[in-house]
Amino acid sequence: MEKGKLLYEGKAKRIFETDDGGVLWAEFKDSATAFDGVKKGTIERKGEYNAAMSAKLFAALERAGVVTHFVKQVDARSLLVRRLKMYPVEIVMRNKIAGSLAKRYGLERGTPLKKPLLEYYLKDDELHDPMMNRNHVLVLGYMTERKLSHVEEQAAEVNRFLARYMKRRGLELVDFKLEFGERGRKIYLGDEISPDTCRIWDAATGEVFDKDRFRFDLGEVESHYEEVVRRLTA
Ligand code: C5P
Repeated sequence: MEKGKLLYEGKAKRIFETDDGGVLWAEFKDSATAFDGVKKGTIERKGEYNAAMSAKLFAALERAGVVTHFVKQVDARSLLVRRLKMYPVEIVMRNKIAGSLAKRYGLERGTPLKKPLLEYYLKDDELHDPMMNRNHVLVLGYMTERKLSHVEEQAAEVNRFLARYMKRRGLELVDFKLEFGERGRKIYLGDEISPDTCRIWDAATGEVFDKDRFRFDLGEVESHYEEVVRRLTA
């Protein structure tokens, strides 16, 4: 498969066309951003870690019956993925209180939630990804009821699967963000699953293994990305 014209460059990935119109080439970058793009930096080899973790978890999810855009890994930092029409809705799923949930409601970080909490955000950098409720998604026409219900079920299934998968490897899945899209009549899980998009803590010690190390200058960012990806892909 040939890498073609650059279609789009985002904060963490470059997306290229390929010689197959239905398949894109996603190249993961080492650049990192946080706090709405205000903090910028580089995490050495992050592109490789995020590509490897995404490839491994997408393949595992496919085997568990979740439809994903993943086709195959083509080099250390690149995946072939199905070309989708993405919904402009970010789905955040949470198992414990952390991040913006702790901040917005003044809650204690690390508190387990009674049940997984699903949130919706509009994917729009200029508007700073505003939070939405289910009614906003439906009434403002970002997704239909049928599609949203399917995405909600898939997100819950992804959470159950990944939380179990990580637990077996001594890790805790605190929260994560998913993006979905469609092609024909089918809905696919898209984007990436990586320490950039998940909060992952050591199950025994609570040690942080995700992008919060970069956000909050916790140090040893690269080695923690490397270690969590090693545990998850071993
Ligand atoms: O910042 P917040 O606590 O809302 O993030 C929840 C989860 O979603 C975190 O794992 C974070 O890394 C992820 N997220 C993301 N992309 C965004 C917003 C959140 O990957 N634009």
